[in-house]
This record gives sequence, C-alpha cells and structure tokens, in this order.
Amino acid sequence: MNTLSTLSQALGSDGALPAWSDQPDPRQILRENDPDIYKAIELERQRQTNGIELIASENYVFPEVLAAAGSVLTNKYAEGYPGRRYYGGCQYVDIAEKIAIDRAQALFGAEHVNVQPHSGAQANAAVYMALLKPRDTVLAMKLDHGGHLSHGFHLNSSGHYYNFTHYGLNPETERIDYDIIRQMAEEHQPQLLLVGASAYPRHFDYPTLREIADETGCLLMMDMAHVAGLVATGLHPDPVPYCDVVTTTTHKTLRGTRGGLILCKEAYAKAIDRAVFPGMQGGPLMHVIAAKAVGFKLAMEASFKAYQQQILDNAQALSAILQREGLRSVSGGTDNHLLLIDLNNLAREEITGKLVELSLDNAAIHCNKNMIPFDPRKAMVTSGIRLGTPAATTRGMKEPQFEQIGRWIASIAHNPKDTALQETVRDEVLAMVQAFPTPA
Ligand SMILES: *Cc1c(COP(=O)(O)O)cnc(C)c1O
Repeated sequence: MNTLSTLSQALGSDGALPAWSDQPDPRQILRENDPDIYKAIELERQRQTNGIELIASENYVFPEVLAAAGSVLTNKYAEGYPGRRYYGGCQYVDIAEKIAIDRAQALFGAEHVNVQPHSGAQANAAVYMALLKPRDTVLAMKLDHGGHLSHGFHLNSSGHYYNFTHYGLNPETERIDYDIIRQMAEEHQPQLLLVGASAYPRHFDYPTLREIADETGCLLMMDMAHVAGLVATGLHPDPVPYCDVVTTTTHKTLRGTRGGLILCKEAYAKAIDRAVFPGMQGGPLMHVIAAKAVGFKLAMEASFKAYQQQILDNAQALSAILQREGLRSVSGGTDNHLLLIDLNNLAREEITGKLVELSLDNAAIHCNKNMIPFDPRKAMVTSGIRLGTPAATTRGMKEPQFEQIGRWIASIAHNPKDTALQETVRDEVLAMVQAFPTPA
C-alpha cells in the first residue's frame, strides 16, 4: 500500500482532517506548571523580535513547522525506516517520514535521501562512517578559511577518527583555488574530497571538483548546510548531479526545523541508511522529521523562490552600502546570502570581531565574530564579522532596510567604543523592526 492511500484511509472517505487536539493550549499549561522555562522561552521570543538577526546560519521557521516540531510525534519510538521498524504502531509516523523523503527527493532531485540525522554535524559523521574506514584521508576546507568543525577539527569526532588534510583559499582572490585542491589531491590521495563551508560567500565549481575527484579516484561530498535554500530554488549551482553525497542542515537558508539531511546516489543508499541508524543514532526524532516534511513542502512553493531571491538581493544591497562606507568584504563581495567583513583595514588597532560583535549586539543588531582567511587573530577574538540576510529577509525586510542596516553597522564598526552611538542605533533599530513581525 502506498503512502497516500494509507493517508486517505486514515483520513476517512470524506477526506476530513481529524481534530488536531481538543486539549488545552500546551503553552498555557507550560506557563502554569513551569514558569521558569516558560519565561526563558518568552524572553528569547522577544529577543528574536526586538532586534535584527544577521547571524548567517539562523532563520525564523514558519508557524506550521513549529506546530509539527512541538507535536505528539515526539512520543513515538520508530527505530528503523518506514515499513521496516523495530517497534509497532509506526503506521502514522511512517506516513510522515515517507512524505518527508518524497518531498526532499523532489525538492533536490536526489536519487536517495535520509531524513533522520538529528543535525548537520550528525549527518556528516554518518557519511564519514558510511564511506570511510578509520584513518582514511579526507581533503576539506580549512576551518579558519570558512570550513566547519565537522570537517576535521581536531576536537571533533571527524578529526579524531579520520586523517583530514585541509586546503586554504587563494590569498589574492580569497576564493577557492581549484589548482591548489588538485595539487593537494594528487599529493595526499584522499578517499574523499569534501567541499562546503560556513563562511564562504562564493559559488562552488562542481564540474571542476568532479573532474579532480575522478582524476584522483576519490568520492566527492558537498556540505551545503548554508546554501540549501538557494540550491533548492536554483539560485546557487546544484551539487546533487556532481556529488556522490550531499549533506545539509534544514534550518539555515532552507528555513525549516533544526535538523540534518543526507542526499546521495543510489549506490550509497544502503551504506548511508545503515550509518545513520544503527550506526550513529538510535530512535529518529519523528516530530522533527514531520516538521522537516512541512518545511520541504513550503520550500517548493513559488513564494519560497521569491524569498530566496530577496535574500540574494538584500545581500547585494548590504554589500554595496558597506563598501561605500569603507568596510571591506572578503573576496570583494558575495554570490550568496552572507558577507564576511574584514575589520583589519579600518586602520585602527584593536577593532576586532569580538569588539564589533558586542557593540552591534548593544545596538540590537546580532551577528557573529568570524575569522577571515589568513586571520592573524585567534578564533575567540578574530578580525572579522559574518553577516547574513536570511532571517531579516524572512521578516520582510528589503533593500531600503538593508541599506539602513549597512549604515548602522558601518557607523558602529568605525566607532565600536562609542556607547552613546550604540544606544541611538538601538532605539532606531527597535523602531524599525516594529513594522516587520516575526512569523511565530
Ligand atoms: C551549520 C553547519 C553544519 C552543522 O550543523 P549543526 O546542525 O549545527 O550540526 C555543518 N556543516 C556546515 C558547513 C555548516 O555550516
């Protein structure tokens, strides 16, 4: 029996939806029974509303995603995969997971998908387990050039179990240098070539990467955690046809619930599924999988493509105004949703990422300090900040707002110790965000 006939059977012949719940509002129950946690959640909700979120990896989920993530599906154990579970009573969570799988396949055009990874790092760990043996060699991007902890950082399990070696960016262009990757691949003969980044504002050249992988005889993997929403809507080059495996988070530009996702060629389907469960994880988070499915549906709507285009347009507007105001973007600009700002050229000592992050926070503009390529400072200090447009774009902000945001950021970055300025900007920010409600 296929998923949809199971579903229509469950719905009854008239297709009427069963009642969601006639229980009292769970938020009110929480408020009464655990006011401390209720208060922490409510204060965080207000913080998310009363400020401008520019952390490039963050976003606001749709209310229907939140509803699914907060549902009774959290009660269900469903070790295994749809139709092959180690527990009874999985007929309805099977529907949810099968729909999530079908939608993810359709959204990304993937041969096989696994929707169970709890997070992006977990998805990557499962892929390594599926494709590698301990101590195999992986070639990946340096963390301080924009890579990710789960790409071989020595304190991460990836760095513990595998022999990662890292390529950096070209010092002139501050972009990926495919000749460097080719040379290093020849020299180190990796089993896996890994691309993808957390702080890289440019496109990736997948045909060239595929060529290098084929010449070297290694597998090719893209971690598109940051750009998945752009990929889903055709606004960033598509890694799926070129890569053996693609991993992502579902909560960054994709704007879904917090979680991980693996897309792969059919040839690796079995190994990937086995590595996720029982390799890395036990019971899947069925409430989160249902919420992923809801997010994938929304990502297939025409309005989602318009939203992703606006993310890009806003990044261009922000880039242009910051440049006019004397702030240098690493690599000279951006092709995607994020900018990496080099604070070193402000020609003043001790304007660090740490200081500017804090000063902007005081002005209710939230971003994160970030190392820039060849950064002389340490990770807890840094010479840069990373700015992303997805979250504020979700609230409906467009180019005029981002030009204003750029002017605020520039004034503070040039004078990060001026607390009166921070207060003035904060008042202006709070006035501006009134017109841009958060979705939930
Ligand atoms: C965010 C990110 C991840 C990790 O995602 P988590 O869900 O936080 O584990 C992995 N890879 C890249 C490139 C990322 O940007």
